[in-house]
Amino acid sequence: METTTTYQAIFYMGAITQDPPVEIRDWVSHAVVVPAWLNAAPEHESVSRVSMLVGQLHHVQSEIDAYPDEEASLTSNDANSKPIPDPAQKVLGHQDEVVGMLCDYFLSHGVEHSWDGHLWNLPLVPVSIPGEFILKRQAYLKDGRLSEAKVEDSKCVTNPVGEGEVLVRIMSLALSGDLYRVRSCRNPGCTTWFYAVSSKKIYCGDLCRFAHDASSPERRKQKNEYKRKARLEDKERQSRLKLLEAAKMPNPSSPRTRQIG
Ligand SMILES: [Zn+2]
Repeated sequence: METTTTYQAIFYMGAITQDPPVEIRDWVSHAVVVPAWLNAAPEHESVSRVSMLVGQLHHVQSEIDAYPDEEASLTSNDANSKPIPDPAQKVLGHQDEVVGMLCDYFLSHGVEHSWDGHLWNLPLVPVSIPGEFILKRQAYLKDGRLSEAKVEDSKCVTNPVGEGEVLVRIMSLALSGDLYRVRSCRNPGCTTWFYAVSSKKIYCGDLCRFAHDASSPERRKQKNEYKRKARLEDKERQSRLKLLEAAKMPNPSSPRTRQIG
């Protein structure tokens, strides 16, 4: 259900970036939809709210990952008798913020008729939020594959994604332990979100990787070291050349000179 105040945008580009055409299950996967939604309207209030939530969830995850094992056993065994250790205080602080953010969202039971005709589903669906950003994704389906461009005999498919739905997808990624893969680009000045299939990926693409690598202190140090070595090698080459030149010059005291003379 969309209200008249809802901001809507139709995005054809950015919905499908792969070539050849993608399978529909990839197109509607969390890994594709979540970054596409976050990148579609970064300035929108709705999107910045969700970006902040993702940031807080990342904080909670990293605090929990960094939680020392000894502290964890202390907390669970003597939860009432000992003061809460510092790492746990940090986790609780972020947790409270996350809970505060989630209070604004509501879910309701939906009714869905199953494909096989004998079943019906009662999924939890997000209640629409006034003023939320809805990303209307559109593509063309032919032979089970989607493309951005309209092809003959293809069927137009749409996938509107609102704030509530993206939240459900984000929580689902958090539950499966994959939310850490939804990242914003490490290159300062680039705010692109992406899904890191490889956990080592920290840039949205090669352009940002090259740009940031070139300006990073480690890269500058490497470059300076390379230049220093090149200068040294050049100097050595020059002095070797000078020695060779000197060796070619006729020497009055050499035996050969004496013979000719
Ligand atoms: Zn980037």
